[in-house]
Amino acid sequence: MIIVIDGPAGSGKSSTARAIADKLDIEYLDSGALYRTATLIYLEANRDKEAFFILLNQKKISFYYEDQKFHVAIDGESVTDKIRTTEVTKAVSEVAALPRVRSFVNNLMRDVVLEGVYVAEGRDLGTAVFPDAELKFFMSADLEERAKRRLKERKEKNPGLSLKEVKQNIAERDLKDSKRQADPLKKAADAIELDTTNLTFEQQVDKICSMISEELK
Ligand code: C5P
Repeated sequence: MIIVIDGPAGSGKSSTARAIADKLDIEYLDSGALYRTATLIYLEANRDKEAFFILLNQKKISFYYEDQKFHVAIDGESVTDKIRTTEVTKAVSEVAALPRVRSFVNNLMRDVVLEGVYVAEGRDLGTAVFPDAELKFFMSADLEERAKRRLKERKEKNPGLSLKEVKQNIAERDLKDSKRQADPLKKAADAIELDTTNLTFEQQVDKICSMISEELK
């Protein structure tokens, strides 16, 4: 069984999905982390697409969720923190727009969800990756609020980061993610929309959890 949460950057999908996974004791899948991992390989290939696709097919990407963190490794070496750097964040939407990268990531995800109950989050999960998901949510919040939340999350690891920079990065990524040809960021027609601008974290988690619990019955 799979429950998907899509939405723009900083809408709270990731923290909400993790809280849901912990509360309901189900698995969590972070599709953005997999696009970030592909981006790390792209940067390692010095942005040379040909070399990148060769490397992408050679590397073994593994991942699991534990202790509130989605862990990713390339050939057994953890890249969990490396995929969150500003350099990766700036390049990820360009890499995620490549159709070959999208099918690579989609295959990784479809393989793991064959067993168990998953809550997965991303941009196109309800539309392109898991169109038959049992429950679909689309989270949104206004740009200012999303940027503030993202800054709070990143400030500790990146003290020099400003609200303006975060806001600009989020706005640019949203634009690229929703305008790209291959599986753009889009609300599925049958997704439940949740605007979280004025909801507390607990409220948004409780709302989704109660709908999932109903579905699991
Ligand atoms: O969720 P996160 O911000 O980590 O995602 C990083 C990037 O990965 C997004 O900006 C988007 O370009 C890409 N992405 C995507 N499709 C998904 C999930 C993420 O294109 N399902």
